[in-house]
Amino acid sequence: MTRKISDKLFEEAKQYFPGGVNSPVRAFKSVHGSPLFIKEARGPYMTDEDNNTYIDFCGSWGPMILGHNNAKIRKAVNKAISKGTSFGTPTKQGNLLGKTIVENHRYIDKIRFVSSGTEAVMSAIRLARGFTGRDKIIKFEGCYHGHVDSLLVKAGSGLATLGVSTSAGIPESFVQDTIVLDLNDLEGLEETLKSSAKDIACIILEPIPANNGLLLQDTSYLVWLRKLCDDYDIILIFDEVISGFRVGFEGAAGMYSVEPDLITFGKIIGGGFPVGAFGGKSYIMSSIAPEGPVYQAGTLSANPIAMTAGYTALNILMEEGFYENLEKKTANFLKIIQKHIDRQGHNMSIVQMGSIFWFSFSKKRMISASDINSKGMLHFKSLHKYLLDHQVYLGPSGYEVGFVSAAHSPSLLRKAAKTICEGLDHVFSEK
Ligand SMILES: *Cc1c(COP(=O)(O)O)cnc(C)c1O
Repeated sequence: MTRKISDKLFEEAKQYFPGGVNSPVRAFKSVHGSPLFIKEARGPYMTDEDNNTYIDFCGSWGPMILGHNNAKIRKAVNKAISKGTSFGTPTKQGNLLGKTIVENHRYIDKIRFVSSGTEAVMSAIRLARGFTGRDKIIKFEGCYHGHVDSLLVKAGSGLATLGVSTSAGIPESFVQDTIVLDLNDLEGLEETLKSSAKDIACIILEPIPANNGLLLQDTSYLVWLRKLCDDYDIILIFDEVISGFRVGFEGAAGMYSVEPDLITFGKIIGGGFPVGAFGGKSYIMSSIAPEGPVYQAGTLSANPIAMTAGYTALNILMEEGFYENLEKKTANFLKIIQKHIDRQGHNMSIVQMGSIFWFSFSKKRMISASDINSKGMLHFKSLHKYLLDHQVYLGPSGYEVGFVSAAHSPSLLRKAAKTICEGLDHVFSEK
C-alpha cells in the first residue's frame, strides 16, 4: 500500500495553508506519516487519492452518525440545491429543522442556528453574559468548546496534542474572566462559588467530555452542578456539540435527565453540512436579537441546504430503535477487543458511551484531564500507524474518541475488531 499521491498533495498543500491544513489535528503531528487526502467516502468507508480504502472510525470527527454519503441526505440535498443555495431570508427548511428539535427535545424551547460548533458556543456564552449581566465564566480542564477566545484555556485534544496549554493571540483580559477548574473537583467549585458566585455568568462543560479522551462523569456530579447553578442563579450550559444527537436524540441532557439552561449543538445537527445551534429555555433565549439586546447574526445561518441535510438526518435518528441498535452494535464490537485485551493482559482499557469509544492506555478510570498519562500516547501513535497500514482509520490523535456509525455492519465491525486486536498485540510487543 502506498500513499504517494497523498504525500505529494500534502507537500503542495503546505505552500497554501499553514502547516498544510485548515484545522490543526488533521496535520498528523502526533502520529506517524502525513495526512491522507480523501477523495470519496461511502457508508463506513473512506477512499484516499491513492485508491486505498479504509474502515473509518473518525466520521469527520463526529457528524457522520449515519455513515458517509447517506443516500437519503444526498437526495434531499440535491433536490434542495436545484432551487438555490442561500437566500438570506427565513425558509421553510429552517422551520422544519427547528420544529423537529423543539418538539422532540424536552429541554429546547427555542433554538437559533449558526454555522459551526464554535459559533454556537461563542453565542451561548455571550447570551449567558448578556442575560445575567455578569462577566466571568467557569470551564473545566480538558473540555473543548471550539476556538472561542475566552475558552481556549486548557482545552481539548488539538491543544493537548500540540502541547500548548493555550493559544497565542488571546488578550490576557479575556482569559482573566475564565475560571478553569478540574472536572469532578467539588471542593474547588464550591470555594470558587462561595467567593465569586455573583460575578459568574455561566458554567459550561461537555456533559460527556469527549475531546480529551472520554472522561465519563457521574450522573450525581451533573445533578450537583445543576443544583449549584440553581442556588447561585448561574446559567448551566451543556456543550453537546459531540454528544448532541449522538448518545440519543436528547443527547447527554436527556440521557442523564439533567436540564441545563442552554445547550450548544454542532456536528451531527447538520447532517454533514456546517451547522451549529444553541437553544434552551425561552426566557433566556428571548434575550437574543431581535427579541432582546444580545446581538447574534450570520450570513449563511440556516441556509436551506444545510437545514435540509440536518432535517433529513434527524428524522432518520428518530426512527424506532436507532440508538439502541447503534449502541448494541458498538458494545459488541468493543467487547471483542476488550476480551482480547484481558486475555493478553495488555495494560489498557476501552471506554464506551453509546457509539463513542476511546482506547485508554491504562486500566484506571479517567475522570479528569489530569488523569491521562501522556505516555499512553506513544502506544496510540504506534497503533495508529499499524491500523492505517491495515486499512482502519482512527482520528490522528490518542486524545480523540472514535465513532461507530449506523453504516458499520456487525460483520465489518468484527473484521475491524480483529485488525485492532492484532494492532494492539503489535503495539504491546514493541521493545
Ligand atoms: C467540535 C466541538 C466544538 C467546535 O465545533 P466546530 O464546529 O469545530 O467549531 C465545540 N464543542 C465541542 C464539545 C466539540 O466537540
